[in-house]
Amino acid sequence: MKDFTFDVFILLIKKLKSAGYLFQTVRDYINQPEKKVVLLRHDIDIWAGFTRTFAKIEHDLGVRGTYYYRTIKYCYDPAVMKQVAALGHEIGYHYEDLTSADGNIELALKTFEGNVQKFRLVYPVETVCMHGRSGSPFDNRDIWKHAKLGDYGLIAEPYISLDFDRMLYLTDTSQSWNGSGVAVRDKVTSSFEMEFDTTWDILQGIDKLPDQIMFTFHPELWALSYRGWLLRKVVFTGYYAYKKHYRNLHVSPKKVPAKRSKG
Ligand SMILES: [Zn+2]
Repeated sequence: MKDFTFDVFILLIKKLKSAGYLFQTVRDYINQPEKKVVLLRHDIDIWAGFTRTFAKIEHDLGVRGTYYYRTIKYCYDPAVMKQVAALGHEIGYHYEDLTSADGNIELALKTFEGNVQKFRLVYPVETVCMHGRSGSPFDNRDIWKHAKLGDYGLIAEPYISLDFDRMLYLTDTSQSWNGSGVAVRDKVTSSFEMEFDTTWDILQGIDKLPDQIMFTFHPELWALSYRGWLLRKVVFTGYYAYKKHYRNLHVSPKKVPAKRSKG
C-alpha cells in the first residue's frame, strides 16, 4: 500500500475511529466541541474535481469534514461544492484577497465580502480559511487586523480561532506530514513536539495522539492508484522544488511580514 493513496486515507480514518475519535466540521466544532475529536480540513488549491472522491469516501465511512475552495477558475465550482455539501460536509472560502489586492487592505476587504457573498449563493458559509500563497510577501490573515470575522457573519478562521496548543495540527504539504520546510504560512505555533513524516508514522503512534487533532488535506496530493501516486510524486517533487527556488528568488526577506507568535 502506497502512502498518500486513498487506501491509506481509509485506513487512517478507520484507525482514528476505532481509537475513539469523533469527527466534526470546523463549524460544528466551534459551536459545540467534542472532547475527543478530529477535524478533517481540505484546502482546495487547484481543482474542485479532486474533492469528489474525498467527500464520497468520508461519507461512506460516516465522517464529515470541511472543504475550503479558492475562488479561482476550476476551484470555485458550484456543482461540485453542492455535491460535497449534499454528502454532509461543510463548505468554506479559502481566501487570498490580500495577496490578490497586492497588499491593499481596503480593496482586499471589499473583494473578500463579495467573494463570501458569491459562496453563499451556493452554501451558507460560516467559516473561512486563508490560502498561503507562498510566492507573495503578503499574509492573507492580515485583513483580520482591520476587520472582524463577525462583520461578515463568520464564526471561525482555523488559523485564528483554534488553539493549536490544545489541538495537534497535521498538514500533508508536499506529501509529508512535517513539510513545514516547504510551507511558508500553512503552519502554526504549537506546544506539541510531535513530528510525523509518513501516514504510517501517524498510525503507529495513534495511541499517543492528543484528544484534538486537525488534519489538513490538499486533495490533489492523494491518488486512487499506484500509477496516480507515481504521477503526483513526479509532478509535485518538481513543483515544490520550483516553489522553493522561486521563493528564494522573489521574496526579499525585508518584505516578509514579521513572524507571528500565534496562528
Ligand atoms: Zn491553499
